[in-house]
Amino acid sequence: MHKNYSIPLASLPFEKHRCRSAAISCIDFRFLDADRQFIHSLTEGNFDHIKIAGAGKILLAGSPLRGEITNTIRNVCVKLHGITELIVLNHWDCGAYGSSKSFSSPQEEEERHIRDLTEVRSFLHSEFPSLAIIVGYSTVTGGQLEYRLVEHNGAPGNR
Ligand SMILES: [Zn+2]
Repeated sequence: MHKNYSIPLASLPFEKHRCRSAAISCIDFRFLDADRQFIHSLTEGNFDHIKIAGAGKILLAGSPLRGEITNTIRNVCVKLHGITELIVLNHWDCGAYGSSKSFSSPQEEEERHIRDLTEVRSFLHSEFPSLAIIVGYSTVTGGQLEYRLVEHNGAPGNR
């Protein structure tokens, strides 16, 4: 029989009602730990974490989930938790993009993420003009999973 599982309340941040950031990343379990490490490198303290297949892809025009996720960000992350920063992370080999094999080259995959995330950033900026919007993606290079932020000029930036 499975034993009851418990965590000391004192070890959890229940005295807090606000956090600085929210992050949207893909549901893919392979990237859970890595994405959270990268998000922690970008922001201090706790963050709301929205995990959904395709991450930024669901915030593109025409996505059936765009309105629902936008409402969740507005009602929970902004109004309730008072975030000032919103992070959107796409990832290498994402099934929502047909995996890396559906691109003819790593460059093509990277360009797709930069294009989509640039659109996502301007959409989120128009919805949430008071928030800092940070968009990025992971790629593989030299045996490393490397995270790159998309700069405002559309070029990849290392972080
Ligand atoms: Zn994915």
